[in-house]
Amino acid sequence: MLEGVGVTTSRPFGAVAENGGSMYAAGSLFQLLRDGRPRTRAELAAETGLARSTVTQRVDSLLASNLIGPADKAASTGGRPPTRFAFNPNARFVLAADIGATHARLALTDLACEVLAEAADELLVAAGPEPVLSWVNATGQKLIAKVGRDPADLLGVGIGLPGPVEHSTGRPVSPPIMPGWDGFDVQGYLEDRFGAVALVDNDVNIMALGEHFAHWSNAPHMMFVKVATGIGSGLISDGRLHRGAQGAAGDMGHLQLPHGTDVVCRCGNTGCLEAVASGAAIAAKLAARGIQAASSGDVVTLARGGNIEALQLLRQAGRDIGEVLAAAVSLFNPSVIVIGGSLSQAGEHLIAGVREIVYRRSLPLATQDLRIVQSSTGDRAGIIGAAVMVIDHALAPAQVDLMIAAPAGT
Ligand SMILES: [Zn+2]
Repeated sequence: MLEGVGVTTSRPFGAVAENGGSMYAAGSLFQLLRDGRPRTRAELAAETGLARSTVTQRVDSLLASNLIGPADKAASTGGRPPTRFAFNPNARFVLAADIGATHARLALTDLACEVLAEAADELLVAAGPEPVLSWVNATGQKLIAKVGRDPADLLGVGIGLPGPVEHSTGRPVSPPIMPGWDGFDVQGYLEDRFGAVALVDNDVNIMALGEHFAHWSNAPHMMFVKVATGIGSGLISDGRLHRGAQGAAGDMGHLQLPHGTDVVCRCGNTGCLEAVASGAAIAAKLAARGIQAASSGDVVTLARGGNIEALQLLRQAGRDIGEVLAAAVSLFNPSVIVIGGSLSQAGEHLIAGVREIVYRRSLPLATQDLRIVQSSTGDRAGIIGAAVMVIDHALAPAQVDLMIAAPAGT
């Protein structure tokens, strides 16, 4: 019934003929309106080069889908003012989940990533997929009931997991701190429960998406580094998340530091950045000096309390991370490096160490406009990013065309 839908949608605006059946290209027109700015039919025609009649047809199909709605009336030049149309962020909603090692966070958002309701709980990812995902299911259903939305309006489910994920299949691959999750069909599980598309990625990638969406949408080349119990990064390249061939891009925690080669990492290698500079590594170094510290959280508490040894170790961890980032800057040339994760909350010492090495080691052209900053989204980066992941997928032109065509075709 929907034959040919996939191919017609990839045409640019002007390439679609006045063929009367061009409602499928409404998804492309919709992309213009996603910036939230209201436009009249005439403005849309001018912007796309499409005939007024074609614009009218596509606007009508978008209005029927509720993805756009009438906005305020445009300034009148005499006579009846023309109607303006704008993106309707409340047309659907998204369920976003951020699963950490010991903590889970869940939120419903609208299509502009505004949080409508949220929940959080202490939850051990090591307990396995069934208890964790059944919590996501039960809590998600409760949130949907709480905001009073029709479950049929759920656009999709996005979830971040604290381990490597093959994005195309939505399955974790040998995740070190997630026993029982290897190869588990997380995507299938969630799609069965919620009856909507589900997308899965690792936690650092979704944090990168969230931070980029919330604060750096004008910076197409951004690197997000999570420094917590472990260390990882997410790369935004040309405005899009760069996952690499298998989804493993940015896994910088296991790059080797030359001066750390006697330190054994949980991955089995020696000298990994994570084994030397993570929150867990700093806590272990403090404990070895007789200072009570068992976790990243303890390191942050000590640093905020002015503990000199914690501050010195954070500065050195920043330098170690900077050594790896200096190489990344040469390869990737970002304009912004955002340092996030729990350890970034310990103050400026970590970032000062990163800056010290990156600006010294990288070539001037790569660093002349490079900014190295602390994350601004804090612990909401993950859920915002999980929502962004779903929205970017489900509101892409081809998907919108399917959404519009579905009622007629089924
Ligand atoms: Zn390692």
